[in-house]
Amino acid sequence: MKYNDWVDAFLSLRDGGAPVCPNCDRQALAYRAFSFSSVTPSIGWAVVFCRACNTGARMSRIQLTQQETDAENAGTDAELCTIRLLY
Ligand SMILES: [Zn+2]
Repeated sequence: MKYNDWVDAFLSLRDGGAPVCPNCDRQALAYRAFSFSSVTPSIGWAVVFCRACNTGARMSRIQLTQQETDAENAGTDAELCTIRLLY
């Protein structure tokens, strides 16, 4: 498992795919994006994580869509507190 595996999974997830978790190979990935500003489109960062094995990785400096900027994504603050970030 490499960081790029998480990046590839994140990009697939954003495109509406159902990638498997780089850590456990199950289809349980979600992500939460955070914007640096309220201006859209904006730059921000995200955490992609697995609801099955509770691991994840940070994605830094990404271009966010309007929906992502509004933070209407899967993943709650409570969930994020349980994630062990590998990267
Ligand atoms: Zn997993």
